[in-house]
Amino acid sequence: MGSLQADLLEANQTCHPKPLDPEEFRRQGHMVIDFLADYYHNVDKYPVRSQVEPGYLSKLIPDTAPNNPEPIETILQDVQNDIVPGITHWMSPNYYAYFPSSGSTAGFLGEMLSTGFNIVGFNWMSSPAATELETIVMDWLGKMIDLPPSFLYSGGGGGVLQGTTCEAILCTLTAARDKILNKIGRDQITRLVVYGSDQTHCALRKAAQIVGIQPQNFRAIETYQSNAFGLSPASFREAVVADIAAGLVPLYLCPTIGTTSSTAVDPIAGLCEVAIEFGVWVHVDAAYAGGACVCPEFRHFIDGVEKANSFSFNAHKWFFNNLDCCCLWVREPAALVNALSTNPEYLKNKATESKQVIDYKDWQIALSRRFRAMKLWLVLRSYGVASLRNFIRSHVKMAKLFEDMVQTDKRFEIFLARTFAMVCFRLLLPKSKSEGKEPERVVAIENELNHKLLETVNSSGKIYMTHAIVGGVYIIRFAVGASLTEEKHVKFAWKVVQDHAEALLAALD
Ligand SMILES: *Cc1c(COP(=O)(O)O)cnc(C)c1O
Repeated sequence: MGSLQADLLEANQTCHPKPLDPEEFRRQGHMVIDFLADYYHNVDKYPVRSQVEPGYLSKLIPDTAPNNPEPIETILQDVQNDIVPGITHWMSPNYYAYFPSSGSTAGFLGEMLSTGFNIVGFNWMSSPAATELETIVMDWLGKMIDLPPSFLYSGGGGGVLQGTTCEAILCTLTAARDKILNKIGRDQITRLVVYGSDQTHCALRKAAQIVGIQPQNFRAIETYQSNAFGLSPASFREAVVADIAAGLVPLYLCPTIGTTSSTAVDPIAGLCEVAIEFGVWVHVDAAYAGGACVCPEFRHFIDGVEKANSFSFNAHKWFFNNLDCCCLWVREPAALVNALSTNPEYLKNKATESKQVIDYKDWQIALSRRFRAMKLWLVLRSYGVASLRNFIRSHVKMAKLFEDMVQTDKRFEIFLARTFAMVCFRLLLPKSKSEGKEPERVVAIENELNHKLLETVNSSGKIYMTHAIVGGVYIIRFAVGASLTEEKHVKFAWKVVQDHAEALLAALD
């Protein structure tokens, strides 16, 4: 080989890395793991809520992609310098906002294996292990939270892993819609009614919109503080009866175990009784709290679930699976499959024809699907039921600690009794300032006060919490569940809240 050719060959090699080189993968992969391990070590040193301004990144990053390869060292340096400041640190021990994203070592490693295999498991044939493992772990998990046998494969039902609760609701609503329209006629869609409460997650409204429910046939039934913002079966019945009298067809009810605003619990046993009487599909949304049922002391919250049609919870919220992992069980898989299956020539295969296998593409919206069961399997095996219970209980204990501290400070109130690991509280207007004012006026001032308190606390970067408005009252939500949080962090958080409240109250004078 001439030397010019050799030069060209070498230049070619250095300029054009292979898309997958096992040894480069090993080297760079170790660097990324080291980077993340350092990140977890130091994550409590960053402001929890990102402090950047909109558009910050375009000032730091070129406006065209590079033409030539760049080394991982440089890229990781830019991740540290440019990206980390724009990250809100969900993995920080000082993170108490929204609901937790309880990542774990096992969840991460499971995700890594799944990404490494990079399979697209739409049907059994496309990767038998992915389908069969999913079937097995969904039965495992169903047994762990004591779901009735009718939801398990072994009992004629079955579980499937979705990305999010939004998808689980959309799929089951589609199944329910088609089941009824196949009976009464496709053109009857304008008569179908969907029910939730005024506390139900917006995922339900979105799903109703997508499946073609008329906007005026969406019911967000009112809830009350006297009932801890749970949906009363009597109100549900009243709404259903009125709709039937108006010539409409009740279709689907979505009760919640642990609402997003305040972790309120809808009484599913009573609601299911009404639903069964009127032929309404019940999907139980336990996105946040479902995993807690692994502890026997929380299982009673889903009593009555045996009468529901479907049940889901997000294992990526409070069950130590990294995003995304929504676990959905149905009692009647055929309803899902009838609504969502397709059978194009290019996917035909002997296994499907044998009817001996599950093709999960028919249980979800998309065709392609990730190997999420790998992640869930790693989490269940690495921790076991015993440790998962311990994790959940330690979060509940820390939330209780926070609740106790709030309760002993008379300047604050607990807005709703704590049910899981989230505390809903607020700062009160001092007696001297509220005397002589109308109660509504006092609440309005307090709402503004708590809004300010939350904003100053979050701007400090020390901790991060978010709010909700429930029954017209602005509350601060303190959701324990980040995997690195310990008691000392919770005590620190309360001190931060108290200090900021003190400054605010002093400024009132
Ligand atoms: C978080 C949450 C959802 C939405 O979950 P996604 O997985 O983001 O779709 C739905 N319902 C409740 C009660 C939630 O807390």
